[in-house]
Amino acid sequence: MDKILRIDVGAEGGPKAFEKPLGEYAGLGGRALTSAILSKEVPPLCHPLGENNKLVIAPGLLSGTTAAMSGRISVGCKSPLTGTIKEANAGGQASQVLARLGYAAIVLEGKPKDETLYKIFINKEGVTITPDNSLKMLGNYDLVDKMKAEFGDKIACISIGPTGEMRMSNSTVAITDMELRPTRHAARGGVGAVMGTKGIKVIVLDDTGMGMRSPKDPDTFKKANNAWVEGLKKHPVTGEGLPAYGTNILANVINEAGAYPTKNFTWGRFDGCSQISGETQAETETARGGKATHGCHRGCIIQCSGTFVDKDGHYLTKQPEYETVWSHGANCGINDLDSIAMLDRLDDDFGLDTIEMGATIGVAMEAGLAEFGDAEAAINLVKEVGKGTPLGRILGSGAAVTGKVFGVERVPVVKGQALPAYDPRGIQGIGVTYATSTMGADHTAGYAVATNILNVGGSVDPLKPEGQVELSRNLQITTAAVDSTGMCLFIAFAAMDQPDTFQALIDMINAFYGLSLSADDVTELGKSILSNERDFNARAGFTAEHDRLPEFFKKEPLPSHNLTFQVTDEDLDTLYNW
Ligand code: SF4
Repeated sequence: MDKILRIDVGAEGGPKAFEKPLGEYAGLGGRALTSAILSKEVPPLCHPLGENNKLVIAPGLLSGTTAAMSGRISVGCKSPLTGTIKEANAGGQASQVLARLGYAAIVLEGKPKDETLYKIFINKEGVTITPDNSLKMLGNYDLVDKMKAEFGDKIACISIGPTGEMRMSNSTVAITDMELRPTRHAARGGVGAVMGTKGIKVIVLDDTGMGMRSPKDPDTFKKANNAWVEGLKKHPVTGEGLPAYGTNILANVINEAGAYPTKNFTWGRFDGCSQISGETQAETETARGGKATHGCHRGCIIQCSGTFVDKDGHYLTKQPEYETVWSHGANCGINDLDSIAMLDRLDDDFGLDTIEMGATIGVAMEAGLAEFGDAEAAINLVKEVGKGTPLGRILGSGAAVTGKVFGVERVPVVKGQALPAYDPRGIQGIGVTYATSTMGADHTAGYAVATNILNVGGSVDPLKPEGQVELSRNLQITTAAVDSTGMCLFIAFAAMDQPDTFQALIDMINAFYGLSLSADDVTELGKSILSNERDFNARAGFTAEHDRLPEFFKKEPLPSHNLTFQVTDEDLDTLYNW
């Protein structure tokens, strides 16, 4: 992983690939690398869909090794949705395969000369770029089937659906899972639209003939990996809860806490929660012959995913995540798992972020385009997006644009990106992360829910403002570092609670690269990533005024707690003081 593959999509005669040494980016991976390249090479005031933006795809520092859980891939660009710097990461197979092929990153740059659509094939022999307009407007599922027929089934795909081709601000980059299904997505911020502007439909990776990446100190690495796996297996969240019920185990927990955003963030409890909870979902999947426990890439031992089959036992989609079940479920007043699974399938096929799409439908329902609870109407709205009708293009531009077009005041976005599945009035710490993250509203940027609700890594009262800024700051710093390793963020539950498990992660990095990093060095890495991102955003015109929740969270008390968002603007403005 010592080279960068740069593809100039505007070269004479079609896109041309160049291999370059890592150079000044040596030692960086995942989010640290995507944000460093963007920060240095992309003018912050450029148009996100223009020639000067770049799409950077980077495996993590430990991807392609035998380290458990190391298969996350980072996708970065200037975001068409937020206008900020963006890093969206995903599971699936591509990170491990790209790392084994020796690439620290693929960078798509320049502007195509025409509307020709290209596919890129990378294997140990090199890079082949071919025009293929037969792929135009294919959904991710049909596209991957075509790639399988052409290149065999030992591949991993990085692709866009029709929404990316149509350059919608809510469009994803899809990554195939172990079964070669396009179910994992670098979802947030419209990264698919940037891939679309570069005229690249799919990158097909085949690492046949390439071995695992070798550590500098194999014995220490192996020992650290064993301790790592043991630590993950013994923690109740990573060893029991997530494997058994998936991320949607949170539905009942957050609903009980009165912070489960319902009907476009009007209430904190959903009366249909038990029908869409993780427990009901796992039971339904198992009873129909699907799977309630499944990994999205080889080497995942938490296995929070699953397979959702329809009433006849046919594959429909992967197990919809907690965020998806919430966004298309409670947030739209829908209590039917089959409809939610269908919405998830459509989102994956068209290439849509399920959080943004569900939040957008919630806003559309508030505007009167459909009734809350009308699942069929929700499905039809998503189909409009896939077809690219005028209404679909509005909805595919995200919740903020939809709210503006239809005159809705209550639009749950920060920096143009929709809030995820936790009401910031019921879990104040996550509100701080939503407001201040460099990415727009993003729960994964600093998951304060862990400490506010699950008492992981300590305990901070979710309903009081005290301690929330410090909590979010520390989590945002650590998360930025973890996002650079290729590790799935769910490792954080065990790493935050068990110092030995966190140390095992550091030991693995040290043994692999021959380093002697300490926990303080990891903190410094996290700070430097955030500083890069924050600096990019400042140069793009973002100020403290953008680090705010929508006004309605400050004036409308959440009924379950009769509480508004309590953290003051002055306190929010201290988040980056370190
Ligand atoms: S824990 Fe879940 S999201 Fe993380 S790598 Fe495993 S299956 Fe993928």
